[in-house]
Amino acid sequence: MSTIEATLKTDNQKIANQYLEKVYNATEQRNPHEPEFLQAVNEIVDSLAPVLAHHPQYMESGILERLLEPEKVISFRVPWVDDQGEIQVNRGYRVQFNSALGPYKGGLRFHPTVNQSIVKFLGFEQIFKNSLTGQPIGGGKGGSDFNPKGKSDMEMMRFCQSFMTELYKHIGPETDVPAGDVGVSAKEIGYMFGQYKKLRGAFEAGVLTGKGLEYGGSLARTEATGYGLVYFVREMLKDKGLDFKGHTVIVSGSGNVSIYAMEKAAEYGAKVVACSDSDGCIYDENGIDLDTVKELKETGDERISSYIDKHPNAQYLEDCSNIWSIPCDIALPCATQNEIDEETAKTLLDNGVKAVGEGANMPSTQEALNLFVENNVLYGPAKAANAGGVAVSALEMAQNGSKLMWTFDEVDEKLKGIMKNIYQNSMQAASDYGSPGNLVVGANIAGFLKVADAMKAQGVI
Ligand code: GLU
Repeated sequence: MSTIEATLKTDNQKIANQYLEKVYNATEQRNPHEPEFLQAVNEIVDSLAPVLAHHPQYMESGILERLLEPEKVISFRVPWVDDQGEIQVNRGYRVQFNSALGPYKGGLRFHPTVNQSIVKFLGFEQIFKNSLTGQPIGGGKGGSDFNPKGKSDMEMMRFCQSFMTELYKHIGPETDVPAGDVGVSAKEIGYMFGQYKKLRGAFEAGVLTGKGLEYGGSLARTEATGYGLVYFVREMLKDKGLDFKGHTVIVSGSGNVSIYAMEKAAEYGAKVVACSDSDGCIYDENGIDLDTVKELKETGDERISSYIDKHPNAQYLEDCSNIWSIPCDIALPCATQNEIDEETAKTLLDNGVKAVGEGANMPSTQEALNLFVENNVLYGPAKAANAGGVAVSALEMAQNGSKLMWTFDEVDEKLKGIMKNIYQNSMQAASDYGSPGNLVVGANIAGFLKVADAMKAQGVI
């Protein structure tokens, strides 16, 4: 490189850094009470300097400023009547973040912690995740502060109907396609689909994904996020001459993502020794018996502590964060955001963790993430590693659109291919932009580029 070229490169880098700082500060000022959203933004902004230094046209067309402001934020009242005849009021949200690549796409989360910051961080992440899948889907997310825990079936149905009575005005197969997330599974999707159909007066299968198989659902959608995570981590391991076989794995959580991550990891020869719920965790050194976990969590609505009744040799530890004090080779955080902080990351490193793959959305704090990257742990960030769920949702939309239904193996093979592509594209972007092997930077850049080019092509809207 000539001296002039080198100086130009440093100058561009400086301009990009100053620009990013300015954009981040403005975002912070505009969204002062949204820490989770700002955390997600910060991680992206941290990755983009080399891209903007190479392609100043993205700065000129204000791509980032526009990307950081959701296209639409909808917030609404959800009134419903409980089994005692009392009136309850919750708050519903849908953040339609970005439609440059296709209709808004992303799940609905029902959990008491849901607020605008949480929905915006999830919606923002979803833009990049969906872009990485290579499918024609934009980014969105929604949910409610409704707590499904302990609700009867009829309460659940009344809540879902009330939620959809407002949401249906804003969604559609070509507009916005919600799905499940924490607290929303096929049952809730069924109630919402029924209400949408009744209000719309038409059977529009492609308006929601994660549906039951009888009325437009896709085979392998239930397994997709967990399986996809394991397919992704397998690619990371393979590149280092490693695999799941003979390794000890810990999977936090015991919901849909965790269950199918455990299933696939065990199928690949790993020993999965621990999982958790919001109260505590179980440690079974002989390997978790997945049938028991499925019985407790999929069929029943029970606590993970009841695992001990069937497996008295296993241990139950109160406080779910204790799960990360158990030594493991591969950690798959599949519970919730920020479950791994700096201290927890240090413990994992001290215990010799080799790989971390994120099944939950943003389960590591920025400090934890930095530690993993600095210590060269194989680290699969959520946007890339848990994209299998939404990828199969897009396959469900494709099946709905063509009125076809593919076999389990067909969908599973496509999922494997998609996860491999996400891995390769993220690795490629990481080396193209000067951070070889860094999947955080690679996934952020690969996800960003496609959205940025589409936004640029579509003009200032
Ligand atoms: N909630 C899932 C996610 O975080 C799936 C979204 C979808 O299928 O639309 O990606």
